[in-house]
Amino acid sequence: MTAVPNTATSVPTVPLLINGEWVDSSATEFRNVVNPATQEVLARVPLATASEVAAAVGAAHRAFATWRHTPIGARLRVMLRFQALIREHSKRIAAILTAEQGKTLADAEGDIFRGLEVVEHACSIGTLQQGGFAENVAATVDTYTLQQPIGVCAGITPFNFPAMIPLWMFPMAIVCGNTFVLKPSEQDPLSTMELVKLALEAGVPPGVLNVVHGAKDVVDALCTHPDIKAVSFVGSTAVGTHVYNLANAHGKRVQSMMGAKNHAVVLPDAHKEQTLNALAGAGFGAAGQRCMATSVVVLVGAARDWVPDLVARAKTLKVGAGAEPGTDVGPVVSVAAKERILGLIAAGEREGATLVLDGRGVEVPGYPRGNFIGPTIFTDVKTDMSIYTEEIFGPVLVVIGVDTLDDAIALVNRNPFGNGTGVFTQSGAAARKFQSEIDVGQVGINIPIPVPVPYFSFTGSRGSKLGDLGPYGKQVVQFYTQTKTVTARWFDDATVNDGVNTTISLK
Ligand code: NAD
Repeated sequence: MTAVPNTATSVPTVPLLINGEWVDSSATEFRNVVNPATQEVLARVPLATASEVAAAVGAAHRAFATWRHTPIGARLRVMLRFQALIREHSKRIAAILTAEQGKTLADAEGDIFRGLEVVEHACSIGTLQQGGFAENVAATVDTYTLQQPIGVCAGITPFNFPAMIPLWMFPMAIVCGNTFVLKPSEQDPLSTMELVKLALEAGVPPGVLNVVHGAKDVVDALCTHPDIKAVSFVGSTAVGTHVYNLANAHGKRVQSMMGAKNHAVVLPDAHKEQTLNALAGAGFGAAGQRCMATSVVVLVGAARDWVPDLVARAKTLKVGAGAEPGTDVGPVVSVAAKERILGLIAAGEREGATLVLDGRGVEVPGYPRGNFIGPTIFTDVKTDMSIYTEEIFGPVLVVIGVDTLDDAIALVNRNPFGNGTGVFTQSGAAARKFQSEIDVGQVGINIPIPVPVPYFSFTGSRGSKLGDLGPYGKQVVQFYTQTKTVTARWFDDATVNDGVNTTISLK
C-alpha cells in the first residue's frame, strides 16, 4: 500500500457514502489498492477529512431518529432482500475480492458466504430482539424489558476478510434499529463497497449506513465522536487495544477482536490422513492470513514422527494467483506484509529453529511480481522464539513436540492469545478433557478452524479479544441494544387509594 499524491490518475477513486449519496472525498492523501498477484493498481482510496467523518456521523445521527422506530418486519425485509442480492452477485464480488486481496476465487466466495450467513441470521431479528416479561412482581405490578437500539454504531474492519467481517457488523447493527458508519480496510475496500451498494439496493435508507475511508485519523475520530455509542473493531492486537482504550475512554461500548496464535494439538491416535489434510488446509489456506488459521502444530508423543508427512502434504499445495484455477495458496496481501513474513522466517532460522520446508523464493509462472510465499514449516521451535511469540499471518507453521496431552494444554494456556484451538484425536475422553481445561474461546475437535456459525457468537478470548460481547449471534444483539427495564402498575379501580408510603415496600 503506497501513499500517492492527490493528482488525477487513470484508476478510479473509491467514494465515501454519506446520507445515501456517493461522495468524492476532498482528501489530500490517498492509498493505492493493489492486486497482490500483479502489483496492478486497481483504485485509490481517500483518507477522508475530519469534516467528512463528521458529516457521515451526522447523517447517521439524523437517520437514527426515524430508523429506530421502523417496524421490525420492515427492517428484516431489507435483510431478506439483501441476502438475495448477495447470493445473486456473489461470483462477481468474489472476483473483485480476489483481485484486491489475493485469496483464491473459491475462498473469496467462502468469505462472502460466511458473511451472507450473518445476513440470513439478521432476518430472524423478530425473535432475537425480544425482551422479557414478569407478571405480578408486586400486587398489580408487572416488569418487562425492552431491547432498544443504542444509536450510531461504528465498524472498523481488517484486510483479510473484506466481505465477511463488514457483514459481521453492519447488518446486525442496522436490523436492531441502529445506524452505522463503516470504515473498511484501506487495503482492499472494493468488495466491501460492492456489498454496501447491494445494501442500498435492498432498501437501507439514506443515512442508515455510511462509509468513510481512512486510517488512524479517521479511526480515532470515530472512537472519540460524542454521537457514536458503540464501536466494533476487528484487526491486529496493537490497533485493537488502542481502539478499545480510546473508545472506552470516550464512553462507548466496544468489542475488539484481535490477533491470534492458534494451536492445533495432535494426539497420536488421531485419524492421520484427515489430520494432515486439516493442518495443511488451515495452516496455508488464504496464505495463513486468517485470524483463525492454524499457526502452531503441537505434536504429542508418537505424533512427533508425523513431521515428514506434514511436509509432504504441504508440498502438494499449489502456490499461484488466486484467480488461476487450481491455486491453493495465493499471494500475501502486500509487499510490506511479504517483507515482514520473510523477516520472521529469517529470525526463526537465526534463533535456532529448523526450517524443514522453505517457501521463500517460490516462483509462479506468469506472475513474477506477486507477493508469493510458499508453505513454510519450522520444527525445534521454542516458546521464546519470535516465530512463536509473534502472529506471523503468513503461510508458516511452527511445530512443537510435547510428551503428553497435559503438556500440550499447559503450553496452549500459557500463550497469551485465545482466539481458536483444536484437538485431533479419536479419544472422546481426551477431547473432553481438552475442551474442559483449555483456556481458549473457540475449540475445535477434529475441526481445524472452529469459527461458529452465526446462530452462535464468535467467542475469541484472552489476548485475542477485548470487550465482553462477541460479533454476531445472540451476543451481538445484546451489544447493539440497550436493555431498558420497565416496572408498571395499572389501576382498574378509580376508587383505590393506598395512601402515601415513604418506606421501601416489604411485600
Ligand atoms: P490492522 O489492525 O492493521 O487494521 C485493522 C483496521 O484498523 C483497518 O481498518 C485499519 O485502517 C485500521 N488501523 C490501522 N492502523 C491503525 C492505527 N494506528 N490506529 C487506528 N486504526 C488503525 O489489521 P489488518 O492487518 O488489516 O488485519 C490483520 C489482523 O486482524 C491480524 O492480526 C488478524 O489476526 C486480525 N483479525 C482478527 C480477527 C478476529 O476475529 N479475532 C478476524 C480477522 C482478522
